[in-house]
Amino acid sequence: MTTRKILIAGNWKMNLNVSEASLLVHGLDKQIANHHSLEIVLGPSFLSLQSLNLEINHTKFKLASQNGYPIDEGHYTGEISFAMQRGLVDYAIIGHSSRRIYFNETLDDVKNKVKAAIRNDIKPILCIGETKQERLDKETKQVLHDQLVSALYDLTAEEVSRVVIAYEPIWAISTFDGEPSNPDDMQRELAYIRKQLADLYGQAVADDTRILYGGTVDDMNATSYLALNDCDGVLVGAASLSIDKFSKIVSKAYDYSLTKGKKDD
Ligand code: PEP
Repeated sequence: MTTRKILIAGNWKMNLNVSEASLLVHGLDKQIANHHSLEIVLGPSFLSLQSLNLEINHTKFKLASQNGYPIDEGHYTGEISFAMQRGLVDYAIIGHSSRRIYFNETLDDVKNKVKAAIRNDIKPILCIGETKQERLDKETKQVLHDQLVSALYDLTAEEVSRVVIAYEPIWAISTFDGEPSNPDDMQRELAYIRKQLADLYGQAVADDTRILYGGTVDDMNATSYLALNDCDGVLVGAASLSIDKFSKIVSKAYDYSLTKGKKDD
């Protein structure tokens, strides 16, 4: 029986001001019960993190940032380091495709951010995934391998097991006009990622590490992804801004965790 707890994470991206973020959290709090078999992570903008940290029910929700600067302090005007986020967030979304694509984040940038997050006791949600062209060119495995190996470079096996991997095929993300994938087709990539973890860090680390799926996940398709053997949760973009959709995703994940005793705690 695996001990991997299902993780449902919302990436709010550059949406919602502080009061809108607060309204969303209050709405979610009303709709979502305490589920010990799930971890629910909300990813607001930096601006809302401090107030939401005071407002949320911490037994129900955890917070994630969407980025961070890899150096702990210094004259880096406008940046927010992981050291400054220590104690405020449990997780940080790192290497999201919108950062790799719009902000030209390199493999080295992602590696340095993962290391800085770990150094500051923040668990990275490391996003990896291929473009449509890379998939057509049959380069998916190579891309996933390169993104994974370089981001985890230099971490110990114990540190790696604190990382959550989010497999997000870029062609399936709504931001990039993606179309939902066929859930059954995604198991192969999720299994490949776990196999890479096993080869690099040993089977115990691979068995402990959570791998999420992300890409146009909503309340209608979430269960199909969660049912995949190597899927330990979902990273949700657009649907995480809707009280109704996100709470339904959580409730479906809870139902799923009950029927599949292997994923309940
Ligand atoms: C994302 O951007 O991480 C994402 C999965 O977005 P969406 O669910 O909107 O496709």
